[in-house]
Amino acid sequence: MIPVAKPYITEQEKKIVMEVLSSGALAQGEWVSKFEQKFAKFIGTKYAIATSNGTSALHLSLMALGIKQDDEVITTPFTFIASANAIIYVGAKPVFVDIDEQTFNINPDLIEAKITPKTRAILPVHLYGLPAEMNKIMNIAKKYNLYVIEDACQAHGARVRGQNAGSIGDVGCFSFYPTKNMTTGEGGMVTTDNLQIAEKIYLLRGHGMKVRYQYVTLGYNYRMTNIAAAIGLSQLKKLPSFNRIRVKNAQKLYKGLSNIKGIVITKTPNEIKHVFHQFTVRITSDYKHSRTKLIEYLSQKGIDSSIYYPTPLHKQKVYIDLGYKDSLPVSEKLADEVLSLPVHPLVSEEDLEFIIKTIKEFS
Ligand SMILES: *Cc1c(COP(=O)(O)O)cnc(C)c1O
Repeated sequence: MIPVAKPYITEQEKKIVMEVLSSGALAQGEWVSKFEQKFAKFIGTKYAIATSNGTSALHLSLMALGIKQDDEVITTPFTFIASANAIIYVGAKPVFVDIDEQTFNINPDLIEAKITPKTRAILPVHLYGLPAEMNKIMNIAKKYNLYVIEDACQAHGARVRGQNAGSIGDVGCFSFYPTKNMTTGEGGMVTTDNLQIAEKIYLLRGHGMKVRYQYVTLGYNYRMTNIAAAIGLSQLKKLPSFNRIRVKNAQKLYKGLSNIKGIVITKTPNEIKHVFHQFTVRITSDYKHSRTKLIEYLSQKGIDSSIYYPTPLHKQKVYIDLGYKDSLPVSEKLADEVLSLPVHPLVSEEDLEFIIKTIKEFS
């Protein structure tokens, strides 16, 4: 099977993990600090704070910005559930804005209509590694005095006009889950230029402890381990090459699949660096078969594919139970059309040719 996601782990990671294990310093320590420094430098922010995962990075960011009970945060319904759940964790309300059919990201032209006196922030997601329209989003945020929390959990190294995803808004949040562009097993990171926000996050990440066993606020244990940070340091060095291979693989798939009736592929907008966390096509009603049939066919041929995500968040039981009744037609339509194909750095040239050939013969 050609998997749709697979972490790229080498002897380097094994060696560095053994080094940490031998040192005995397994929990948060020097390795974490070093990873934070290198990650901040890579993203281009003054601070980076390592966390236990991407979800805790989002939760800490919302808390540090003071977003609380009854506040509203504008976000996309077409994302992994953590983006919106983190808003619920602080007692605030996710307000869903429909997406753009071309980019799969929040449609900035629909944001202003959803702003109310309770709106505190916009939380765009750079889905599949393609940055959201940050120019327009930042302008709206400025006009209405809103914070911007970038969910860059799928966009390590993605860029908008030379600026890294995660360095444009007030904070950026990253995940290092094994399927992401780089991994630490489980792990996350918050990036920011704002010292006050960074200090709050440091505090909240470690039970609100300022001086040893003196707790000044209610905090959490959202720390990263030294073991994870060591893997992260090794992976971060390779991230640019991982991303280069992803882009090259995507170009090959784009070329090979671009003239098939009913398969729609988005072209990357100008001045945007897409890092192809996923290579996602739309299987529209013009396609010869159903999406389900194509998935089955690919699977029979040994090609894994996946739907990210089959149900928009406002249609999830947990959100329906919370009272959500939105109709967000583009998200709902694309949830029925999207299909992600293997694009990660362990997919070989031959794999790509086989994927293209297999899809062509079924189309
Ligand atoms: C992976 C991901 C997260 C959460 O990250 P975890 O590390 O799994 O907690 C949040 N948002 C998006 C868009 C993601 O893809």
